[in-house]
Amino acid sequence: MKNDKNIFKQLAIFSVISLVFIILFNALLMPQLTKRSVKETNYSFFLNQLDDGNITQVKIEDSEIRFEVETDNGDKQVYSTGRMDDPELVDRLHKHQEIVFTENFEESNFLLEFLVSWVLPIIFFIVLWNILMKGMSKRMGGNSMSFGKSNAKVYVKAQTGKTFDDVAGQDEAKEALVEIVDFLHNPDKYAEIGANLPKGALLVGPPGTGKTLLAQAVAGEANVPFFSISGSEFVEMFVGMGAAKVRDLFKQANEKAPCIVFIDEIDTIGKKRDGNFSGNDEREQTLNQLLTEMDGFDGKKGVVILAATNRPESLDPALLRPGRFDRRIPAELPDLAGREAILKVHAKAVKTEEGIDYNAIARATAGASGAELANIINEAALRAVRSGRKFVSQSDMEESVEVVIAGYQRKNAVISQKEKEIIAYHEIGHALVAAKQKDSAPVHKITIIPRTSGALGYTMQVDEGEKFLMTKEEALARIATLTGGRSAEELIFNSCTSGASNDIEQATKIARAMVTRYGMSDKFDMIALETVTNQYLGGDTSLACSAETAAKIDEEINSIVKSAHEKAVKILTENMDKLHELAHFLLEKETITGEEFMDILNKESAVLL
Ligand code: ADP
Ligand code: MG
Ligand code: ZN
Repeated sequence: MKNDKNIFKQLAIFSVISLVFIILFNALLMPQLTKRSVKETNYSFFLNQLDDGNITQVKIEDSEIRFEVETDNGDKQVYSTGRMDDPELVDRLHKHQEIVFTENFEESNFLLEFLVSWVLPIIFFIVLWNILMKGMSKRMGGNSMSFGKSNAKVYVKAQTGKTFDDVAGQDEAKEALVEIVDFLHNPDKYAEIGANLPKGALLVGPPGTGKTLLAQAVAGEANVPFFSISGSEFVEMFVGMGAAKVRDLFKQANEKAPCIVFIDEIDTIGKKRDGNFSGNDEREQTLNQLLTEMDGFDGKKGVVILAATNRPESLDPALLRPGRFDRRIPAELPDLAGREAILKVHAKAVKTEEGIDYNAIARATAGASGAELANIINEAALRAVRSGRKFVSQSDMEESVEVVIAGYQRKNAVISQKEKEIIAYHEIGHALVAAKQKDSAPVHKITIIPRTSGALGYTMQVDEGEKFLMTKEEALARIATLTGGRSAEELIFNSCTSGASNDIEQATKIARAMVTRYGMSDKFDMIALETVTNQYLGGDTSLACSAETAAKIDEEINSIVKSAHEKAVKILTENMDKLHELAHFLLEKETITGEEFMDILNKESAVLL
C-alpha cells in the first residue's frame, strides 16, 4: 500500500545515507585514528628498547622500521622510526630470539578494527532509526506507525457482562440475533439442511435505542470471541492505513472463527462513494477493503459481522447487497410496552418503593429512546438521594421525566407577577383547547415552574394507549392546541409575547408535514413534496418541488395554522369563565394535575347546566 511504500522508501534513503557515512568514516577518519596510535620515535630509542629486550614484534620495510614495545606492566605500543644504514641490524635483532618478524601489525587488530569501523556504526544507525521512528509515531498520534494493526478489542463472554435480559423491548432484533448466536453454537444443525447464515447483519435505528447494547449482549451470549471496533478507528491519517487495519481485523477473525466482528458506527467508513469532488482516498480504500474481505471469507466457517448505524441511507449500496450485510435489524424507538419493560430493567439496578406504576411513566414518555429511559431512572435515583430518601418513589420518577424532557426546575428564577399571570393564562389556554376537542390527548399536568431548558411553563398531554397513526383530525387538533397558548394571551391581555415561539415552531412543523408528506391538505393530492433525508437523526427533509409549488405550500401551511388559531380563539371565548378560574388556580398552585384540571372544568359545567 502507498503508506507501507512510504516507509520503505524512507528506510532505503536512511540506509543509503548511513552507508555513505560509514564508508566516509572509514576512508577519512579511521587511518588518522590508527595512525595516531603509532608513535614516531628516533633510532636510538629503537636501539635502547632492543637492548632492554622490550621489543616483541618488528617489521622492517625499505625506509621504515615498525616495532612493538611491551613495557613491564604489559602495555603495548607500536613505534615507527626511519631505517638507518645499519649493517648490524640483522645481528642485533637475531640476538633477541623472542622477537617476531611480522608482516602487518594491523592484522592482529583486524577483528577489533572491523568491529569499530563497520559493526558499531551500523548498530548505531539502527538504534538511531528506531528512536526516530518511535518519536515520529508518538507525534502522529500513537498508532499511525504500527503498520495498520487493528486495535479491535476482543471480548469473551464474561467481559461485556451483558445478556439479552439486559435488552428490553427490542424483541424483533433480539429474535434475529438469537438465531445468529444459535448458529455459532450449533453450526451443524444449519449445515445439515444446507442453510447459510447471513454473513452480516446491520443494526439500524435512532441513537440510544440499544444497538451497541444488543451487540454486547450477543457477545455475552454467544460464548465465542467477539471483536468490537468502532468505524472511526479505521479512519487514519495515511491512505491505506485503514485498509490495512481492516485486513488485520479479518485475519484475526478468521483465525479465531467461529467468532463475531462488531463494527459500531459503520457509516464513518461505509459512506456512499461518490465521484463528486476530490473524494476521500483513504475512506474509499478502507471501504473497498471491507467489501473485499466480506466477500472473501467462507460463510460456513462462522465469522458473523454485525454493524450498527443510525444513518443507513448514507451507506454504500455495495455494502448492503446480499452476501454482505444482507440482513437489516431495526432497533426502533420503543413502544409503550417496550418503554415499560426498559424502565423495569433499569429500575432493577436501583432501590425503589413497592408498587411503582411504570406504565404511567411509560405513557408519559412517548418517543423516548432506551437511553433516555435509562437516564430517567438514574435521575430519579439521584433525586431520591438528594432528598435524603433510601428508595426511589413514584414522584421521583415523574419529576425526572420532566427533567429529561424540559430540564431541571429553576426554583429561584425571579419572574414578575405580571409575567406569571401571562404564563398561567398561556398554559391554561393550551390545556383548555386540548380538553375541548375530542381528537386530543388528555391533559396530564400543567405547570408554570420555569425549567433550565428555557421553558417557562408547560402543559403535558399523555395518551391513554399507544398511537401509531395520526389522523388528519388529530393533527388539526394538535395544531389548535399549540395555538391555544397565544390565543389566550391575545384574548386576555390583548397583546402577544415571545413565549409562543416553540409552539409556533411545532405547529408549523406539523402543518408542513400534513401538506408535504401526509397528503392531508385540500390543495394538493397525494404527492410527496418533501422527502425525509435523515430518518433516524431528526428527520430532516428536503423539498422536491418547484419554487412556485413551494410558495403554494407556504400559503397552504399558513391557512391551516390560521384556521386552527381561529378555532382555538373560538373555544377559549366560549369558555372564558373557566379560562379565568383555571388560570387563577394555576397561578396559586404553580403545578396542577390533569385530574384537578378536569375537576374544575367539569364542576363548572355542571353548575352551568
Ligand atoms: P445506540 O443505539 O445509540 O448504540 P446504546 O446501545 O449505546 O445505543 O444504548 C445506550 C444505553 O441506553 C444503553 O447502555 C442502555 O443503558 C440503554 N438502552 C438503550 N436501549 C435499551 C433497551 N432496549 N433496553 C435496555 N436498555 C437500553
Ligand atoms: Mg451505539
Ligand atoms: Zn405554549
